Amino acid sequence: MITYQEILKQYWGYDHFRGIQEEIIQSIGSGKDTLGLMPTGGGKSITFQVPALAQEGLCIVITPLIALMKDQVRNLRERGIKAIAVYSGMTREEIIVALENCIFGDYKFLYISPERLDTEIFQAKLRRMKVSMITVDESHCISQWGYDFRPAYLKIADIRQMLPNVPVLALTATATPEVVNDIQQKLAFKEGSQTFRMSFERKNLAYIVRHTEDKQKELIRILQKMQGSAIVYTRNRKRTREITELLSNHQITATFYHAGLNNDAKDIRQKSWQQGETRVMVATNAFGMGIDKPDVRIVIHMDMPDSPEAYFQEAGRAGRDGQKAYAVLLYTPHDKMNLSKRITDTFPDKDYIRKVYEDIQYFFQMAMGDGLGCSYAFNIDEFCRNFKHFPVQADSALKILTRAGYLEYTDEQDNASRLMFTLRRDELYKLQEYDADIEKLIHIILRSYTGLFTDYAYINEESLAIRTGLSRERVYEILVMLTQRHVLHYIPQKKTPYIIYTQKRVEKERLVIGPEVYEKRKESYAFRIKAMIDYATTEEKCRSRMLLYYFGEKDGHHCGHCDICLKKHPSGIRFGDYLELKEEILRLLQEGALSTSELSEQLHQPTEKTTSVISFLIAEEIIRSQNGILSI
Ligand code: ADP
Ligand code: MG
Repeated sequence: MITYQEILKQYWGYDHFRGIQEEIIQSIGSGKDTLGLMPTGGGKSITFQVPALAQEGLCIVITPLIALMKDQVRNLRERGIKAIAVYSGMTREEIIVALENCIFGDYKFLYISPERLDTEIFQAKLRRMKVSMITVDESHCISQWGYDFRPAYLKIADIRQMLPNVPVLALTATATPEVVNDIQQKLAFKEGSQTFRMSFERKNLAYIVRHTEDKQKELIRILQKMQGSAIVYTRNRKRTREITELLSNHQITATFYHAGLNNDAKDIRQKSWQQGETRVMVATNAFGMGIDKPDVRIVIHMDMPDSPEAYFQEAGRAGRDGQKAYAVLLYTPHDKMNLSKRITDTFPDKDYIRKVYEDIQYFFQMAMGDGLGCSYAFNIDEFCRNFKHFPVQADSALKILTRAGYLEYTDEQDNASRLMFTLRRDELYKLQEYDADIEKLIHIILRSYTGLFTDYAYINEESLAIRTGLSRERVYEILVMLTQRHVLHYIPQKKTPYIIYTQKRVEKERLVIGPEVYEKRKESYAFRIKAMIDYATTEEKCRSRMLLYYFGEKDGHHCGHCDICLKKHPSGIRFGDYLELKEEILRLLQEGALSTSELSEQLHQPTEKTTSVISFLIAEEIIRSQNGILSI
């Protein structure tokens, strides 16, 4: 039989497994439910791809992001491995073809978004698939206590029931101990399951918090002092542009990125930064997932993320190459208040939520009896203008109503236009009746995008208009007309989100907003915010150690190069050294009193350092000295 290592060599060309990869592979390969915790970039994909290739049958991979899904499928195909993806946005026929391929086509990997799991087609086809294992990527999304809960993940347990003997591999790069338990429980892990954890410590990354009254000035100062590629994170789309301008005015090349840009712009900017033509990427948190640039030297946060999980992920994009790198958080006392305000913004009062629920009905002018199944295009700005709501809170209220099961509110995700040909290429050329505009447009589309006969491609009407010389309206018109003639299928960009009623309308007083969707979640959100504020404001804890502690690594040590470790302690030595020594001294004295020289001997540290710390601890009455004997 071919070994795991041979598979690794054959398909990826790597000689060795990294860290805990092999342990995870052995565990899932022997049929045990397995949880793997590895930092981003640690190499999680290999841990399911290799064992799946070693077995007969199909590996189902559940993953939340369509863009990453496509990347991985492309990547596997380039290695000659049969892989396919099924996600929201594909047509029914397309999905059927893909799933049939998984039954008859000898496919090894089916990537699927969690929202597709409870569809009838999928479940019908699933019964006939020969499934070897289920992989749940980004598995922290299953936990309500995590920072990125996706309700659709809860459907995975049902799939397990349909496949009783198929083991599950859950992977994540971010999970507190509470979330780890929750993942195992919600995925119905069986007895004998195993968990493998690779330390999240990033030895080459120095965490710094800069307290400053003028963040912009500090930003410029840091970027002028330092060399190399950088990411600057800010929470606000508008500010990405402003900061980019600021940097350009200081001769620092920069570009910006946020979810509101069209895909062409995103691609161009990302490439320019990736290739080092632009030094700084100024972005919202929409930037970074799946980006693997090794030589980012510094990640600077202008605003605080609302959880250590998010901060750790974003900061962790610096220094992938193992060379020294910095993660800098700029902080003003004001931030603490702003951050606390996010708790009430994200969880407005229940009375307010009820009011929004009611106002929505007036907004849509719904008649009695309307409700369940009704779907409306929804413009939140207009709604807020008419009913005097703040958009942030109204948005939060709608999300809570969605979680409580009353309606489905989708904001602007995955909203770019898509297109796929429904005719075959040869059929396309046989059609003669087109006028010149149409012919030109089809020609340009075929030249601009690939894979259009097998899959939807994201298109940009604006750039098609420029390349054809037609107006944007004309491009739109032609695409709609070709859709009606079944030449292609065009899904225009969704500009406004939708609201769909998933339940009968009820009186606002009868809305049930339970602890699972409100109190408990609010509590864990507040807990994360507090952890983030602690991180920024501590004056005596190693930053790296604080983050690791948060993720459940309790036996950490001082990193020695964060701003806390480097600052001077009143005893005269560095803070990090002081903390390390203090801990060691207290541990030794706990076991029994020692003379100063006995203690120094056991510490294996330069005598000046140990004497400074000992004198300091005595002066602070943390330890006692009697006739040269030290005790607690
Ligand atoms: P993650 O999902 O944990 O963020 P990926 O699975 O995307 O990470 O892997 C990150 C990178 O590391 C990829 O480029 C991958 O090819 C590489 N990699 C993974 N395992 C190994 C290995 N054993 N040896 C060398 N490179 C590896
Ligand atoms: Mg991954």
